[in-house]
Amino acid sequence: MVAGSVRADDSQTERHKIVIIGSGFGGIGMGIGLRKAGFDDFVILEKAADLGGTWRDNRYPGCACDVPSPLYSFSYELNPDWSRLFAPRQEIWEYLRRCAGTYGVAGHIRYGRRVESMEWDDADRRWTVRTADGTRYRAHAVISAAGALHIPRYPDIPGSGTFGGDSFHSACWDPAVNLAGKRVAVIGTGASAIQLVPVAAGEAAHLTVFQRTPPWIHPRPDAAIPPRARAALRTVPGAARALRDVVYWGLETRALGFAVDPRLMTPMTALARTHLERQVPDPVLRGRLTPDYTIGCKRILVSSDYYPALQRPNVDLVTDGIKAIGPSGVATADGTLHEADVLIFATGFRVIDAAAELNVTGRGGVKLKDAWAAGVEAYRGITVPGFPNFFLLLGPNTGLGHTSVVFMIETQVQHVLSCLRILSREKASTIEPREPATRRYNDALQRRLSRAVWSAGGCRSWYLDDAGINRAIWPGFSFEYWARTRRARRGEYEVRVLSRGAQDRAMHPAPEGAERGRDAAHGIGVVADLIARTLGPAGRTALIKDRAGNDIEAPDAETIVACFTPADPRDGLGASYVRDLVRDQHTAVPDGAATAVVLAGAMVRLAVTAVDRKAHPMRLVRGVMAARDRVLDELGRRATDLGSKEEIAAVMAAAIFDRALADVLAEAFDKVGKDGIVTVEPAGEPGLNLALSQGMSVDGGYVSSDFVTDAQRGEAILRDPCLLLVDGEVTAAEDLLPVIDAATAAGRPLVVLAGGVSGAALEVLTVNRTSGNRATLAASVAGDPFSRALVLSDLAVVVGGSVAGGPVPQPVSDGPGSLGSAGKVIATRDHTIIVDGAADESMLRDRIRQIRAEIEAAESDADRQELFTRLARIAGGAATVRIGSPTSAETARLVALAERGLEIARLAMDYPIMPGGGAALADVHEATAKFPRSVPGGRSGDEATGARIVLDSLTAPMRQLAVNAGMPASAIDKALKSRKAGAAIDPATSKAVPMRPRAIDILPVLQAAVTNATALTVRVLTS
Ligand SMILES: Cc1cc2nc3c(=O)[nH]c(=O)nc-3n(C[C@H](O)[C@H](O)[C@H](O)COP(=O)(O)OP(=O)(O)OC[C@H]3O[C@@H](n4cnc5c(N)ncnc54)[C@H](O)[C@@H]3O)c2cc1C
Repeated sequence: MVAGSVRADDSQTERHKIVIIGSGFGGIGMGIGLRKAGFDDFVILEKAADLGGTWRDNRYPGCACDVPSPLYSFSYELNPDWSRLFAPRQEIWEYLRRCAGTYGVAGHIRYGRRVESMEWDDADRRWTVRTADGTRYRAHAVISAAGALHIPRYPDIPGSGTFGGDSFHSACWDPAVNLAGKRVAVIGTGASAIQLVPVAAGEAAHLTVFQRTPPWIHPRPDAAIPPRARAALRTVPGAARALRDVVYWGLETRALGFAVDPRLMTPMTALARTHLERQVPDPVLRGRLTPDYTIGCKRILVSSDYYPALQRPNVDLVTDGIKAIGPSGVATADGTLHEADVLIFATGFRVIDAAAELNVTGRGGVKLKDAWAAGVEAYRGITVPGFPNFFLLLGPNTGLGHTSVVFMIETQVQHVLSCLRILSREKASTIEPREPATRRYNDALQRRLSRAVWSAGGCRSWYLDDAGINRAIWPGFSFEYWARTRRARRGEYEVRVLSRGAQDRAMHPAPEGAERGRDAAHGIGVVADLIARTLGPAGRTALIKDRAGNDIEAPDAETIVACFTPADPRDGLGASYVRDLVRDQHTAVPDGAATAVVLAGAMVRLAVTAVDRKAHPMRLVRGVMAARDRVLDELGRRATDLGSKEEIAAVMAAAIFDRALADVLAEAFDKVGKDGIVTVEPAGEPGLNLALSQGMSVDGGYVSSDFVTDAQRGEAILRDPCLLLVDGEVTAAEDLLPVIDAATAAGRPLVVLAGGVSGAALEVLTVNRTSGNRATLAASVAGDPFSRALVLSDLAVVVGGSVAGGPVPQPVSDGPGSLGSAGKVIATRDHTIIVDGAADESMLRDRIRQIRAEIEAAESDADRQELFTRLARIAGGAATVRIGSPTSAETARLVALAERGLEIARLAMDYPIMPGGGAALADVHEATAKFPRSVPGGRSGDEATGARIVLDSLTAPMRQLAVNAGMPASAIDKALKSRKAGAAIDPATSKAVPMRPRAIDILPVLQAAVTNATALTVRVLTS
């Protein structure tokens, strides 16, 4: 959609309605909000090469959120799949990527665009945003979601630059530096430090922690969320929402002390003191760890493993002030030199000046930095007088010490949308807060803050600026901020309605009004009808014309949206909407695009009829969204796990339309089990062949794409290689030379599987590979040090080798005798598969017996589950399906088809499934018949109509499948009337028959189809 809305003045300038800066929780949340509200012409400028902000950048070991994940997520996109109560950063990062894909925001992001400056042009009523690569963006509005915690702060310590070892900030973690066996120094004891210290303590030979001020620490009630609980969160209606509410209100009580009465801080202090006393028996150490300021004055941290880590024999806590940093370590005021090989600055971020960094120039050439010379402040932390159409997310005084800032971000997104709607409604060009309203707001805020613990609690934190004024924190309950902020108060804003020309250029989600929506709906109908014909096994290709007027036979949704050129240019907009929908569906899941389009076509038709009958579009939208949530819940509740081999085959056959191939692939899964390895490869002989062998799959793939041997599949495949296993990082080339020599002498390829491979060691392997001397592969084994060691030790048994390195450092090159051997190794970016390892059978049996015994003895479900996974990994077989046909082109097509089938089958085995053929959606249609009555707005209101638009469309895929099979409408109606739950229409008999195990749908595919179809409907309604 973005591409269609970009107009280039010249090669250096892009024009958009809105520019967002940053793609963390703020930028992605804002993008989702804009899309939901129908503002589609926006671009997100991101300086880095990926989205995710905080969760992309902070890679230090142990990094996780310190607010329970059910709350540290968007309220409209609850995630039942968090693995822990406090999810690790990788999961949060993946969650954000998923949100960006699901809501169609990913395509709006421009990576590698560092915003350097922006200026307001009052004559043209636009911002000019400049990025470091020389591109200019012209936009009506700019929303900065550049984050408050992304500029690392380094302490001003003499000699900082002279340190001779590796040195970095916790937010710029250097993955190439291995802490194992090193002397490590960590400066700082804040939120990042207390997460990384316990991990570093377990790896380093010696760890020195430099503390200036001890934090107050509460226990961290973290736990793995067992699969059964996750399934319940996914399937029990309202469970995920209820858990979020419990967490929200539980955390909100932590604000009582500063929002209501400081005396209410007493229980918080008692909890922290008890935690310290329980975990630190030594009174002297306890004294050094006891803060001398009121709890809450600095952020209260949460950890249950920080105090124990400080008491390990290899850890020293240093509380003397740091005097200087020298080449070999850190010198403290008492004259001691603390020698170190690695120096880590866990010293936080430059917070107050993060927004000013953007170099913003507002009306009359006033710089934001100058406007803030007396102190950083904004109206409700979002808007600034003199800076029209400029919005800040997580701006001044909107940080929180007690709960999730994602809640604040969502509130601010609502406020910004509310301002944009004022512009749209009033056909105005600019909006900015009135000076008196801003003054009143900030004076009241500062009066409140001056009495609060952050200023009066006896500490100096990053919340305070140079003048000691708190410019960072919101001093109340988060719901109070929400109640006062989510809607912009018209009276507190200056809104300028300008000349007619300026009005035309103003900020409207729908500049051409209802006409635009009607055009879009018509275009959607045209493309949806074409795609509908391709749905299901009886679907046909659609005949379309490309740009040059040539006829094309398009077999699927992807080809249709790629090639369709509208005969009537007014259909272009709708066609681009459908193209976005198909892309969004594919970003989220590998299937279901045609179903999503059929649903969307039905919904849009009903929506247009409702608007023609004078229903209010925004009320319809509310009903649509409420029904969407209900449908997603209901689908989740009804889904079950995949059962038989027939069902696995049915899932694949429904996606690839080749029953024979699906049957062989299902047979392969049946032989090796759900966690076994199934691969496909081309064969010289025609036919399908299934070969079984032993195999093991490891999380973690090749460390450099230089090792890829099949560029099309993105895989590195080595046959008959020797394997070197190393528990740790391999960096030195000389450690590898004897092993390379041994492999060369044996005339075999070499695979190095290690915690990491970098530096000269990586270079020597890549040079061998790229120069064609020797087939090599370096792959890293993912996971924390403990689980990595277990994987490697199991792998050693599977390949008949041994593991070098480990907790006690040993030379990597134990000699060629320690090398393992396998028939084949296949590595992708994320996984490495080892097929036909040269295991000693009796050792393999012993290891399996040992794991089974551990399962018997396991004390918790979580431990048992992990052991089962380990058992499946080591005992699992590998199946290779060899596919051949008379021509190589046909073989390649079948191999690609089989790979798609495998992808779908794995999805179905990982996620719950439902009866196919449209039955699951039709079941939900029946189960939700009374739902529209309960939608706010009443029995016959427009909201109820909005809900019906979604619910009445749910039978459309089943009907379309029957139409494609040639059934007349009257027979379809009859079959539908007699239908029972789980049944769909069988065209052979024209009757509704149970679908399982014949046809299966996968829950996330259906959920994504419903989400994307409703998103498109909302887009049309808000056009
Ligand atoms: C280690 C760590 C743990 C945290 N844990 C929690 C927690 O548990 N709970 C909680 O509520 N909060 C936590 N926070 C705070 C966290 O920052 C916020 O929760 C949230 O992630 C902020 O999102 P954001 O989008 O505003 O900023 P960020 O996530 O910082 O994203 C900003 C984005 O803007 C980009 N950007 C910045 N400047 C420019 C520019 N000039 N041009 C282009 N792009 C730019 C950045 O590259 C980045 O991608 C934590 C912070 C850190 C550092």
